[in-house]
Amino acid sequence: MLPRLLCTSLFVGTLALAGGCSKSEPPAEPEAKGETAAAQPADTAKQAPADKAPQSGVDYHSFANTDDYRVQHIDLDLNVDFERKVLEGEAKLQFKRLNDKNRPMILDTRGLEIESVKAGHGEKMDPVKFSMGEKDDHLGTPLKINLPKNATRVAIQYRTSPDASGVQWLEPQQTAGKEHPFLFTQAQAIHARSFVPLQDSPKVRITYNATIRTPEALRAVMSANNDPQAEKDGVYEFEMPQPIPSYLLALAVGDLEFKPMGERTGVYAEPSLLDAAAAEFEDTESMLEATEKVYGPYRWDRYDLLILPPSFPFGGMENPRLSFITPTVIAGDKSLVALIAHELAHSWSGNLVTNASWRDLWLNEGFTTYLTNRIMQNVYGDERYRMEMALGYDDLQADLKDKDDRDEIMAIDLRGRDPDEVFSNIPYEKGSLFLYELEQKVGRENFDQFLLDYFNNFAFQSITTEDFVKYLNETLLKQYPDKLDAERINEWIFEPGIPAGAPHPQSDAFTKLDPVRSQWLDGEIAAQDIDTGDWTFHQWKYFLDGMPEKLSEAQLKELDEVFGLTESQNNEVAFSWLMIAVRNNYQPAYQRLEQFLTGIGRNKFLRPLYRNLVETGQGELAKRIFENAKRGYHPLTVKVNSNIIYGDDGE
Ligand SMILES: [Zn+2]
Repeated sequence: MLPRLLCTSLFVGTLALAGGCSKSEPPAEPEAKGETAAAQPADTAKQAPADKAPQSGVDYHSFANTDDYRVQHIDLDLNVDFERKVLEGEAKLQFKRLNDKNRPMILDTRGLEIESVKAGHGEKMDPVKFSMGEKDDHLGTPLKINLPKNATRVAIQYRTSPDASGVQWLEPQQTAGKEHPFLFTQAQAIHARSFVPLQDSPKVRITYNATIRTPEALRAVMSANNDPQAEKDGVYEFEMPQPIPSYLLALAVGDLEFKPMGERTGVYAEPSLLDAAAAEFEDTESMLEATEKVYGPYRWDRYDLLILPPSFPFGGMENPRLSFITPTVIAGDKSLVALIAHELAHSWSGNLVTNASWRDLWLNEGFTTYLTNRIMQNVYGDERYRMEMALGYDDLQADLKDKDDRDEIMAIDLRGRDPDEVFSNIPYEKGSLFLYELEQKVGRENFDQFLLDYFNNFAFQSITTEDFVKYLNETLLKQYPDKLDAERINEWIFEPGIPAGAPHPQSDAFTKLDPVRSQWLDGEIAAQDIDTGDWTFHQWKYFLDGMPEKLSEAQLKELDEVFGLTESQNNEVAFSWLMIAVRNNYQPAYQRLEQFLTGIGRNKFLRPLYRNLVETGQGELAKRIFENAKRGYHPLTVKVNSNIIYGDDGE
C-alpha cells in the first residue's frame, strides 16, 4: 500500500475497462526542505550518527523499546462513532519482558487522546502513571508507561482524533449506496499508531482479538476471521490467531454484504457492487491454488476481498485474510485482476515473511512484484507476462531518471524521513528485476525451489535485508557458485542504479508499436489506418506514453476523434491521454480532466496530473479543482497533493 502510497497496483477511478497490472504508486512527496531531521526514537541504541550507515534491524520509525518488551497479543474493544468520527475504547496489550530492568514501556501513538492506563499481571490491573513525549512530525508521539515490576499486561483507554492519518471516514454520498457512512483504516506504513497505541514496528508480530461496536445497520470486517453469517446487530467479534505485524491491522465498517466465490474465497462489498465484484474476481480461487502449487500452502485459512469506495488512495492493500481493493478494478472483463494477484502474492511475500523495518520493504514488494508476474503468466500466458515485465522495466527506468542515488538503493536509508517515501518503483520493480536475474541464472525450477524453501524457513517471521543475504549465501550461492556472484548481489541491494548487464524485459507486442507511432507522427499514415482492434490497455499505454512532449492541435484532435481517448473508461488510458492533454493545453479534454481528478482518490494518477498542471502554468486551475475535490479525498491524498499545488514541497 501504501499511502501516501501503498502497495500496489493500479487503477482507481470510475470504471476501468481493460488491462491490469500491479505497479507501485509513485513515491510520496519529499518533505519540505530545510526541515530538521526527525527526532530520534526513544531507544538510545537507535541514535546512530547520520554519517554512518543505518543499523540493520533497527526500526528508526518507532519509539517503542522493543528490546525491553515485546507485545505479543492485543485485545481491542472499540466503539465506532460516525457522528464524532472517533474510535474509542480500550486496547489491552500482553507482552513479554526481555530483561529485568523494568524500564518504562514506550508505545507509538499519533493523535491519540489517552484517558487512562492500567497495568498488572493476569486479570488484576491497577492504574499506573503515564506521560506523552514530544511530538515528531513523522513518527507521532511516544506514550511512556511506568510499569509495576511483575506487569505483563497494560490496558489503555483512549480515543482517536477525527483526522487520524490511518482512518478515513466517508459520508454516505461518498459510497456506492449513498445511504450509509463508511469507514476504513490504512495502517501501512506507520499509521496503525493513529488508531491503536502499540509497538508500531513490522519487526513485532502480534495476534489479536477485537470487539467492534457499530451502528446496527452496518457490518464490521477486519484482517481476521470474518464471519459472513454474523448477525448485523452492531457488535462484532474477531480473532486473528496468526501473528502479524501492526501495519496489517485493518478495520472497515459499512453497508457490507458477502458473496462466496470459491471454497476459501469470497467478497465483501456494498450490495450494489456485490454481484459484479464476485463475477469479476471469480478466478481468485484458481489463482490461490496456482500460487500454492509453486510456493507452498496458503497459511491464512480464508482469502476474501473487501471492495472499498473510490476514494481509497491505493489500488489495494494486502490485509491478511481480507485484501482491501479499489472498486475501479471491477471492469466487467477481468482485465484488471492482476491487482488481485499482487495482493494475494503478499500472503507469502510480506504477510508470511515480513520486512523487519521499512528499509527492508523491497523484501515485501520486490518479491511480490516478481510473484505477481509469475501468477499472471500462469493465468494469462506468456505475452501478458512479457508486457507486464516490460512495463515494469519502463516504470523503473523512469524512476531511475528522477531519483537521487540514495533513493535508488533497495536497502534504503530512511532515517529522519517519512517511511511512506520508500514506496517507489525501486523496492517493487528493481527488487523484482533482481529476482528475475537470479531466476535466469540458476534456472526457473531451481529458483522456485529456493523461494519455496525461503517462505518455509522464515514463515511468520520478520527479517532484515541482511538476514536475506545471509540465507542466500548459505543456499543458492553455495549451490551455484559458478552461476552467482556475491559481489554482484551486493551491488543490486546496496548500490544505486541497475548493475551492468541486468536483464531488460521487452515485449514484441510493444516494440511493434514504435514504427507505427513514428509513421503517424511523420504524417505517413493516418490514425484511422492504425489497426488497434486487438490492443490491450498495456499497448494503449505504451503507444500514448511514447508520444513526444508536444503535439499539434490537429494531431491531438485526430487522435481523440479516431480513438475516443477523452471518453476512455479505462483509467490507465484516460490518465496517459490526460497527461498529453495537459502538456498541450488541449481544451476539449478538460471537462473529463476535472471529472477524473474529482472522482478518483488514487495518488498514482492524481499526483502526476496535478504536478503537470502546476508545471505548465495552470496552477490556478489545479487549485480550483483540488479545492472542490478534496473533501472526498483520503487525508494522505490531500497532504501529498496540497504540497504540489501550494508549492511547499520544496521542489
Ligand atoms: Zn504490494
